[in-house]
Amino acid sequence: MKTDIMGIAFDNVTMQEALDKASAILRGDKTCYAVTPNAEIAYEAMKDERLRALINGADLVLPDGAGVVLASKLLKTPLKQKVAGVDFADGLLGLLAESGKSVYLLGSKPGVAELAAEKMREKHPGLIICGMHDGYFKDEAPVIEAVNAAKSDVLFVCLGAPKQELFMKRHQQELTCKLMIGLGGSLDSFAGTVKRAPKWMIAANLEWLYRLYKEPKRFGRMLRLPKYLWAVVCKRIRG
Ligand code: UDP
Repeated sequence: MKTDIMGIAFDNVTMQEALDKASAILRGDKTCYAVTPNAEIAYEAMKDERLRALINGADLVLPDGAGVVLASKLLKTPLKQKVAGVDFADGLLGLLAESGKSVYLLGSKPGVAELAAEKMREKHPGLIICGMHDGYFKDEAPVIEAVNAAKSDVLFVCLGAPKQELFMKRHQQELTCKLMIGLGGSLDSFAGTVKRAPKWMIAANLEWLYRLYKEPKRFGRMLRLPKYLWAVVCKRIRG
């Protein structure tokens, strides 16, 4: 079931339901894509019709972040839970390892995907990572060729938003994998080059505050969160 939050049609799912949907996509014969918008991206999408269409055109739209879930509650159309992209990706890797399916890692600075792959294989023994490529390339054609040659079932696209959403839409017809997922800086998290917040901060919905503490230059970007929530409150008041 989809729930509209400020123009974005989110899948109202638990983590398990999101993984079940991904499994169904992997059994199908289409190339699908999944997106994981947080409040920052949702705010951008409010103002940018093209970005909104890219997001709403996805087969799976997962609420990555406490801001979106809070917005859904303020609007009285509560989403079941936050489904953080990096946690969803990790759950999916578990499923892939169990079923002998493969993943290709695309994005981040040179060397990060290799490090992420090492950590992923440690956590999910038997996982098939059939290729990787950094996210700093000019010519897209050879990258598409490499991804298709690797014959992966899943493609992690970690180029940051909205670059990754544009990439997935642009190449949906040519790519032969079953599921691509836009995952922002998740490879950095897997690799450990960017640490996730301590558990208590994640549990208190303060992961955004930790990111700000670690990367103060994100301050300008993060102002989109209060702006997004303010827009939500205004919408609620107007009814
Ligand atoms: N990135 C990339 N190619 C680019 C620009 C960015 O691979 O041309 C990567 C960057 O190295 C980082 C990720 O995309 O790993 C973006 O991370 P960020 O935390 O900014 O994204 P978010 O998760 O907030 O969308």
